[in-house]
Amino acid sequence: MQTDFILSTLATAADHAAKHGIYPSGDLDAWLTSALKTSNYYARVMWRAVKDAYNGLLTAYDFETIMLNQISSQFRRGYNDGLRELGLSPSDMLPEWEAELQDLMAQELTYVKRLMDDIREAARNEEGYKQFRNRVDMWARRFEEMKSLAMLRAGTLVDKLLTWDLGPTEHCTDCKGYADVGPLPASYWMETERKTGHRPQSRTLECNGYNCQCSFGVYKEEIGMLFAPALNR
Ligand SMILES: [Zn+2]
Ligand SMILES: [Zn+2]
Repeated sequence: MQTDFILSTLATAADHAAKHGIYPSGDLDAWLTSALKTSNYYARVMWRAVKDAYNGLLTAYDFETIMLNQISSQFRRGYNDGLRELGLSPSDMLPEWEAELQDLMAQELTYVKRLMDDIREAARNEEGYKQFRNRVDMWARRFEEMKSLAMLRAGTLVDKLLTWDLGPTEHCTDCKGYADVGPLPASYWMETERKTGHRPQSRTLECNGYNCQCSFGVYKEEIGMLFAPALNR
């Protein structure tokens, strides 16, 4: 509980500063992200909000505000983590990436409102709140989705190859197939997404992205030997 208070204070301050283009030194922000992630902070805060809403301790407005703040903070931290994975920093964010990220955050409002309605309904029928655990956990996993998205967008700017790494779950034929094609430039994965909508955890995958915990990884080998002619054009 006390750890949550400290993490929440730090994260709120850092997220607020980031809105004004002020970033704490890269290491500190990366540390904070990893502390929030390893302690499962976002899932915990959202879960508490679900319980409080169920027990009538939160108004719909307060519930939505808490949820959207957590979701936005998490989406951005996931995205920034992806940029760092490529050796970039949050300040390298291009306006079109920012616009896309903002869009994705805004789309969550519909789902948060639907969740609030379902919680109210469950409370009226005294069904308990445990059924909502799955939805909270799915939100918490979207950190990884944002990380992969950032690597996909920013990957075209750096000479690195991306691999589709399978998550520790069962795999659909789409995910398995992409993992099998091996390391390829981000431009290849962008083209794949353009044609099929497919990227790790996307809804258009055969698995609908539901239990997909796949992610993009940076291929560690030197790519000079492999793809030099294509990338140095
Ligand atoms: Zn899949
Ligand atoms: Zn997958």
